[in-house]
Amino acid sequence: GITVGVLALQGAFIEHIQLLKKAAARLAEENPSFDDHWEFIEVRTPPELERCDALILPGGESTTMSLVAARSNMLEPLRDFVKVHRKPTWGTCAGLILLSESANRTKKGGQELIGGLDVRVNRNHFGRQTESFQVPLELPFLNSDGQRGEEPSYPAVFIRAPVVEKILPHHQGIQVEENERDETVVAPSRQAKDQSARAMMEDHVQVLATLSGRAARLASEGKNINAEKETGDIVAVRQGNVFGTSFHPELTDDARIHSWWLRQVKDAVGKRT
Ligand code: GLN
Repeated sequence: GITVGVLALQGAFIEHIQLLKKAAARLAEENPSFDDHWEFIEVRTPPELERCDALILPGGESTTMSLVAARSNMLEPLRDFVKVHRKPTWGTCAGLILLSESANRTKKGGQELIGGLDVRVNRNHFGRQTESFQVPLELPFLNSDGQRGEEPSYPAVFIRAPVVEKILPHHQGIQVEENERDETVVAPSRQAKDQSARAMMEDHVQVLATLSGRAARLASEGKNINAEKETGDIVAVRQGNVFGTSFHPELTDDARIHSWWLRQVKDAVGKRT
């Protein structure tokens, strides 16, 4: 069987588990080879994390999540999970912030990051006027397994959402620019094992979806908009085993991204064993 964990220290973890179950049932219906014994568990401790083949970090409040993780002695095991064992890991919203190598500091002082994605995120990017909105988003990667033809757009829920504002140069460590220094938190670059695991990593950051500020504004004003194709801010990325979305698929009942991700998880587990 394959065990998928959802970090359950804070935030929308129950919703993720429900959608994972729905996605697994759908996959098994479509293709008997997916009728694995999937197990979905809440993760709060290092031994629970150790059981997992893959992990989701939910949306919520990244500073709180990070503080609770630190207090539960979970930060180092999480960094090992993502960057040394390189198991499939998906962060949504607050989870994306924690999986970034760099983020802007908040008034509360920022927090410790886990890292794994060579990006800098800007938290709460859309600002006061557009704190939360739902927008139909084009997600071309959902079409990647052929067969089903063009997927309709995805109902993406954004709540005080971060965006990826910069893709960091690969392999070079993080260079924080002079003007950013006082307002930046970075994931600690730590033991030799982390360094060497990352040095071997061939994978670059892939941009999977963008959203224009105009579309975000119109959606937050309650206007009906068509899925926009104009370029915009980066709201979904992938780098090797790590996947991040600015929005919250767990707050909809659309399980397509969870299905897509479980297929990636199954591939990754297959390659390991
Ligand atoms: N901006 C929030 C943070 O810093 C994330 C919000 C969310 O997950 N909905 O954690």
